[in-house]
Amino acid sequence: MADDAIVWRPVRRLRAHELILERIEEEIKAGRLGVGDRLPGERQLADMLRVSRASVREALRVLEALGVLTAKSGSGPGAGAILTARPADGLGDLIRLHIGLSNFSPAEVVEARAMVERSAAGFAAVAAGETELARLRDALEQMEDTSLTLAEFNAIDTEFHVRVGEASKNRLVGQFMQALRDAVRRQAIEAIAGLGEWPETAGSLRADHVRIFEAIASGDPVEATAAVDAHIRHAYPGIPRHEPKPAARRQARPSSFSTPPRP
Ligand SMILES: [Zn+2]
Repeated sequence: MADDAIVWRPVRRLRAHELILERIEEEIKAGRLGVGDRLPGERQLADMLRVSRASVREALRVLEALGVLTAKSGSGPGAGAILTARPADGLGDLIRLHIGLSNFSPAEVVEARAMVERSAAGFAAVAAGETELARLRDALEQMEDTSLTLAEFNAIDTEFHVRVGEASKNRLVGQFMQALRDAVRRQAIEAIAGLGEWPETAGSLRADHVRIFEAIASGDPVEATAAVDAHIRHAYPGIPRHEPKPAARRQARPSSFSTPPRP
């Protein structure tokens, strides 16, 4: 036989639950299944797909772990697995799990957030329309309440940053922001508690957010980027570790190849 004879590589055998996942993914891609839709029951799915109920259960567990499915047990009208609308939950859980396994540190999560958020704020300054600005203003107004506890303030603070992400006109960025914040919520609250007396801290954080909002509202990507950067350094002293170079900061505007037009 010649040296260049065919090499028969072994085929990868997909397990039943992986095939079920593929089938569900196909239905989602085809638009026949969407957020809020209920999947057929376990027995029905097993019958239709001609697989065991154990395989169906395994596939549903994987989807649940990925945060795209909420399973409700029982047999009433509310029972059955529903495709969920909160991809950030799954992403946040996953990031938290990896922090737990020390695959990366909370500091790295905050740094990643700073990197994403600098870009998002720059894009938001260029792309945000009246609707997005109104949503940001609404979060700012909620922050004005001086009776808010640190945890309550933090929830609105998160909402503000998610809205900045959404204002960049990329839904994944908003969800990613939510996930990154959810993953380090406890550390964030501890870091802010360590900044000093809460009423004073709340006041200075409010001022940070007003600066970010004004930069976005006035369509100034360079100022928006700088404002977000200053805010994250303020809220997490010592993080991020990597100082952007002054030259890089001067040019810190969104790249022009994908700058969305101002609506
Ligand atoms: Zn904030």
